Amino acid sequence: MTTEAIITERILAELEKGVAPWHRPWFGTLDGPISHATGKPYSLLNQILLGDVPSEFVTFKQAKAEGGAPKKGSRGKLVTFWKRIQVSGVATDEDADGEAEATTGRGRVIPFLRYYTVFDIADCDGIAPKFPDREAVAHEPSAEGENVVDGYFSQDGAPALDRDHKSNRAFYSPALDSVTVPRIDQFPELAEFYSTLFHEMIHSTGHASRLDRFTGKDAHFGSDDYSREELVAEIGAAALLHRIGLETPATFKNSAAYVDSWSKALRADSKLFTTACARAEKAVRWILGEKPDEKPEPAPEPAPAVVAVPGPEQMTLALF
Ligand SMILES: [Zn+2]
Repeated sequence: MTTEAIITERILAELEKGVAPWHRPWFGTLDGPISHATGKPYSLLNQILLGDVPSEFVTFKQAKAEGGAPKKGSRGKLVTFWKRIQVSGVATDEDADGEAEATTGRGRVIPFLRYYTVFDIADCDGIAPKFPDREAVAHEPSAEGENVVDGYFSQDGAPALDRDHKSNRAFYSPALDSVTVPRIDQFPELAEFYSTLFHEMIHSTGHASRLDRFTGKDAHFGSDDYSREELVAEIGAAALLHRIGLETPATFKNSAAYVDSWSKALRADSKLFTTACARAEKAVRWILGEKPDEKPEPAPEPAPAVVAVPGPEQMTLALF
């Protein structure tokens, strides 16, 4: 058996343990206005009316029912709902969230748009949030990790980075050439934060102005090109994580769950793995500011079994 075949088998074994469920290694966050009564996000129109405020909103009546009230001088905001009127002239009941209850009786029902006023519970006394965000996790950032991140994003022509906002998404946008990740305090595990950020950083090296990896016309999710690029990002992220000394078996396991779409491509082509390793190595060197034609520096300390920026053969060891 060739090394590639052995490695491929090991990855497939991880995938076949049933690790497929979608895994996000960070806490979700409220990212828009929701109803205090139901926890549901408002309709898009109402979200626009309320602004991009990640909070719960109540009507005056609801606040009162819970023994609270809008603070003096606080101003409510308008939201809309559909009211239905029967030709008999009797309005149907609806709850304050605009969900009309089933109309009974006969006659024509005329829907029309009404509005009501809601208050941010932050502007109310005596109303506790019912759907609080998970508490932030205090981490001491990794000095070595921050060096890698700062070094890359301060290169000339580097992509943009947004890591300062609470977010439910981690992604690289080739169109905007920007990397977005949730905040570090949304991650229970420090290593997961760097793993996620490095993953997106590796993607960003594929931009046309850098290593120009996005040649595929067919790079939608689940396609072979997509699988290939995910593999590059995962191997590169694992190598960087190893470099800053944060690698854990769990980080690879989670990666394996995420990139379930590898398995098909890997089965078809075990050389894929070596190709991906070579691409990942280039990407890692780019991030570390080593020009593509430069030879990698020899690892300063011989102690670890796997060197900092290993060749493809050694890099495979770093994954397990
Ligand atoms: Zn990815």
